[in-house]
Formats: sequence, structure tokens, C-alpha cells
Amino acid sequence: MNGFEFRTAPNIQIQTGGAERLAGFLGRATLSTKRVFFLTDQVLLDLGVVDGALQSLREAGFDVHVCADVVPDPPEGMVLAVTQLAEEFQSELVIGMGGGSTMDTAKIVAALLGSDQPLSQMYGVNQITGERVPLVLVPTTAGTGSEVTPVSIVTVGDTRKMGVSSPVLYPDLALLDASLTIGLPPKVSSATGIDAMVHAIEAFTSRIKKNPMSDAAAELALRKLHKNIERVCVDGNDIQAREQMLIGAMLGGQAFANAPVAAVHALAYPLGSLYHIPHGLSNSLVLPAVLEFNAKAAEDEYAHLASLIGLNGTSRALIDEMKRIAEATGIETRLSEVGVPESALPKLAKDAIEIDRLLINNPREVTFDDALACYSSVY
Ligand SMILES: [Zn+2]
Repeated sequence: MNGFEFRTAPNIQIQTGGAERLAGFLGRATLSTKRVFFLTDQVLLDLGVVDGALQSLREAGFDVHVCADVVPDPPEGMVLAVTQLAEEFQSELVIGMGGGSTMDTAKIVAALLGSDQPLSQMYGVNQITGERVPLVLVPTTAGTGSEVTPVSIVTVGDTRKMGVSSPVLYPDLALLDASLTIGLPPKVSSATGIDAMVHAIEAFTSRIKKNPMSDAAAELALRKLHKNIERVCVDGNDIQAREQMLIGAMLGGQAFANAPVAAVHALAYPLGSLYHIPHGLSNSLVLPAVLEFNAKAAEDEYAHLASLIGLNGTSRALIDEMKRIAEATGIETRLSEVGVPESALPKLAKDAIEIDRLLINNPREVTFDDALACYSSVY
């Protein structure tokens, strides 16, 4: 067997209700820190989702600057503006509490505070040369797994999604508190949960870095997510199911942090860039088409995953089950339903096939015509 590596965050706390005791989990990395830059978004702030964590920090004596400026598909300008606020506050610790956009932004802010390297030189794989300040990530959706990945996605210019991937971006602490996900509407629970399932599926078929540990994480992720995704859509208050979803999404993150995602994500990104379709829904929309396309090369892996979740062991069963879940949970399943004009499909295909960093992981090569056929089949 060829050598491989498996990295993850050094401290992962699964603590339902833990956000209200956040200060108590901070530990060694933050011992000498006093000034906290607390990053979230306006919706979570207005809903009071972050109140318990803020109270915990203030009671423990931290100076906290709350910034709720994060917007979806983090634009580079927003990331830099937020970093300037963090600098002005002389922040010593960055806490990101929110969805993938918030956690991705927090990662970059922590890296920019820790060195003089400009963001423009950080894009790509292993390009960060400096250190970062202490970083804590607290997800409020069960989807991206960003709390345990070394990746941050930034939108550059109007529509270009660029990735920063570096071990520097693993946080010191990931706190998983299922009570933070209780209020998620069914459609968000579904789309983000399907995204997490895609992480597991794509990591399991990742061509270059797939390894026994990423496989184990992907398998357990898929089982937990499959078992609970419909439960949380039917009853959002089912805290046990919520916790299993959060653990499943984290495991999916661990899987793809080490065995990267591929064509589903490559085809999903242009939908986010060009039409601001949320990341989870973008993935869910293109998933059946890409699975159909890949099945020729990944039949054995898909069949294995199908049997793992109680289906008969064929790629067909896995594809049909993913379609069924999207329909059963009521999310959109066609591009025509989410405001994408048919005339845009060639542009989407052109953008998708340029995302080499993802496509090199795909079990099959994807040409422009292949990508276009995938989009057309789910239009
Ligand atoms: Zn994803």
C-alpha cells in the first residue's frame, strides 16, 4: 500500500448545549488571549442563536467584538473588510460560529491576523507561509464540515470561487453543539445534509488520496446522515437526530479533508457563483446526474455504499435513494426550478471544467460535453 496521511482538528468536542459553556472548552491554545473576534451572520445574531456563547465568553472575562458581516459565498472584499475590523480590535482569538461561509471567513481572518502574507498569495494548496492566531469553529448547520477541514472558499471578482487549502486552517477547537441546529427549517436541513452525504460519497471515490481512514470516516458519515436526514426534516426538535447529523457532517468533513471532493462539487460551484444557489442545494441538484455519469467507473464503490445503508448493492440503488431523499424532503430537484435559464448551461459547463483541483479527484474524466450533458439532464 502507498503511504498516506490523515489530518484533522486536534480538539473536537461533541457537546450538546456546549455553546453556553464555550469559554470552558477553549483550553490551552487560548490561555494567553483576552480579545476575541467573534464572527457570525446577521440572521443568527437576530435569532439569538449566538447569545449563550457570547454570555459565556463575557462572563469568563474576554473582551468580545461581535461581527455579523458575513454573507453567503464570502466575497473577497467582505473577507478583507472583516479582517480589517479584527485588526483594529487587536484580536488575539477568532471564533467563527455559523455555517460554512462564516467558518471559512473565520479561517482566513485568523490566517491574515497571524502573518503579513496577503490573501492574494494564499490561494491554492499549501500556499500559506505564516502562522495564524488561535481559531475556534462552531457549526450551526450539519453540512459543510468546514470545522474540520483545511479549506476555505472565497468568491473573487463577481463569480470566481477560489480555494485556500492549508493545514494552517485547521482550527484549535471544533465545538459541535446540536442545540444550535434545532431551528433550521426542513429545506435547509435537507440541502445541507445532502451536501454532507455528497462529501462522504465523493471522498469514498476520490481518485488520488482515498485511504483506509478517509474511507472509514466516509462510511460512518453516510450511515449516520442517511439514518437521520429525514428524521430532522420531519421533526426539527429531535435533538438525538440533530446530534447524529452534526457528527455525520463532521465525519464527512474529515473524509473529504483527506480525500478531496470531485465532480459533484465542481458542477455545483458555478451554480453558487453565478446564481447564488446555496451550496447544499447546488450539490443536491447536480448529484444524480454526476452519479449516473460516474457509475461506469465507480460501480463497485457506489454499490458498497448502497449496501452500507441497507439498499441492494448497486449504483442504481444509491442514485435512486439520493433522488428519493431530495424529493421526500421537498427541496428543488431541477435547475429550471431555481431560476437558472437554459441558455446558461454552456457557461456553467465551461466554468465547471476549469476547476481542476476538484476534477482530478473524480473517478472519470469530465469534458465540456459531459458537464453540459449532466446539467441538461437535471434542467
Ligand atoms: Zn460541499
